[in-house]
Amino acid sequence: MSEDKKLDCPHCGERMNKWKTPADSTWGTEFQYVCFNDECPYFVKGWDWIMQQRKARASYRHRYNPVTGKSGPVPVWSNDALKDNIIREEEEAKEEE
Ligand SMILES: [Zn+2]
Repeated sequence: MSEDKKLDCPHCGERMNKWKTPADSTWGTEFQYVCFNDECPYFVKGWDWIMQQRKARASYRHRYNPVTGKSGPVPVWSNDALKDNIIREEEEAKEEE
C-alpha cells in the first residue's frame, strides 16, 4: 500500500483529515488522521453498536496514527465532536507565506 493510500479511510474510501491530537491524550503524537465523513459506515454503525453494548449515545471514527502506522477508533459523542481539532492544510500553507 502506498503512503498516499493510507490516508484514505478503509471504511468509506474518503481522504481522512489531519487531526491535532488533544494534549491530554495518551497517543503521544502531534497529529493523526481521522475520517470525518459523517456518511462513513464505520461512524454510522458505531451509534447502534455503542447503544447496544454500552447503552450510551456515542460512536467512533476511524483514526490512523502516522507515527506508529496503527489505526483504531476514536470515540465521539456527536457529529461535530473533535472537528475543532481538524488541521486545514490550506490554512497551514497560508501561514507559511
Ligand atoms: Zn470513513
